[in-house]
Amino acid sequence: MYAERMGMLPPYLFARIDALKAKKIQGGVDVIDLGVGDPDLPTPAHVVEELCRAARDPAYHHYPSYAGMPDYRAAVAGWYRRRFGVELNPSTQVLALMGSKDGIAHVPEAFVNPGDYVLAPSPGYPVYRTSTLFAEGRVYEMPLAAENHFIPVLEDIPKKVAGAAKILFLNYPNNPTSAVTVPGFFESAVEFAREHGIIIIHDNAYSEISYDGYRAPSFLETEGAMEVAIEMHSLSKTYNMTGWRVGMAVGNEEILSGLGRVKTNVDSGVFDAVQMAAISALTGPDDCVQEACRIYQERRDVLVEGLRGLGFSVEAPRATFYVWMPVEDCMSFATRMLDEAGIVVTPGIGFGSGGDGYVRFALTRSTDRIRVALERMEAIGL
Ligand SMILES: *Cc1c(COP(=O)(O)O)cnc(C)c1O
Repeated sequence: MYAERMGMLPPYLFARIDALKAKKIQGGVDVIDLGVGDPDLPTPAHVVEELCRAARDPAYHHYPSYAGMPDYRAAVAGWYRRRFGVELNPSTQVLALMGSKDGIAHVPEAFVNPGDYVLAPSPGYPVYRTSTLFAEGRVYEMPLAAENHFIPVLEDIPKKVAGAAKILFLNYPNNPTSAVTVPGFFESAVEFAREHGIIIIHDNAYSEISYDGYRAPSFLETEGAMEVAIEMHSLSKTYNMTGWRVGMAVGNEEILSGLGRVKTNVDSGVFDAVQMAAISALTGPDDCVQEACRIYQERRDVLVEGLRGLGFSVEAPRATFYVWMPVEDCMSFATRMLDEAGIVVTPGIGFGSGGDGYVRFALTRSTDRIRVALERMEAIGL
């Protein structure tokens, strides 16, 4: 019944974990879910208020514009200027998205011919791979290794692959490894893209979630980036708005125009009332973002210290709300955690073969719950 390309999709590990978790809950287990990358904190009240106000206004009840409301695109440009010092023309260099996943899922369709390569990090956000497969492209997995600070070694990509590649996906701060970029890497990526005629898609979903004074850059701050790259961003992680489906693609006009043309044919834009609420988030006070980071940092410290106390060797992340921990066998570790301790963690292999040997903890549960999780781990001798 299904098309052949459906058979190329990797088995969706996360759906299986969800099913196992549901079974545990049904069996009466008090499951602690440290698997999901979805903030437990609420959307800031002023943003919710603005949605309610806008939703009552019939002016916003129609089809939105495809590219996004001019005021929304201007708010995005203003935020990029204030936050990163990056200048964007709102009418040509900003495109509204239904979350950054929307942009990531559709961008290969605009640029990838059957058989073209797409360079994707492994481990990495699974949509880089699946969107490539839907466009009938070939995925070249760039390993992210601890000894390279989880940065891909672009020189290791075979010349033949680089020559046949159309897109390079990058993501710093990184999910799932929580790594941040290193000085000089973005510059060398721009050079690599120029040399091989490759488009860079930088996924910056976690730029605002950082600790210990670290501030993540935009890829577009890099000299020459505007000629070869776009950046996907979203309000999901920054403002606890995962359910709202609003984000942006910014950067090179031609690349944005290709993505925009695909999207014009598959969706009809972001609900205007949601865009109004997003404007209030981007232009409003940012103490809510700082408060969220403070909360995640406290959880990070409790978890990392607890894991070290149990004998694990684990790094404290400087950004994202994930802790990426080496284990001997990620599947059996995750299975044991759920079966014996009622704790969900994500096995690294779910993010590609490069994630094998790691598990990911999400800091999206309270310090109390994290402490209970650590006690349960200790009780089962982990
Ligand atoms: C959460 C996440 C996204 C998608 O978020 P949206 O809600 O679609 O904006 C994209 N990339 C990475 C790496 C993520 O973790």
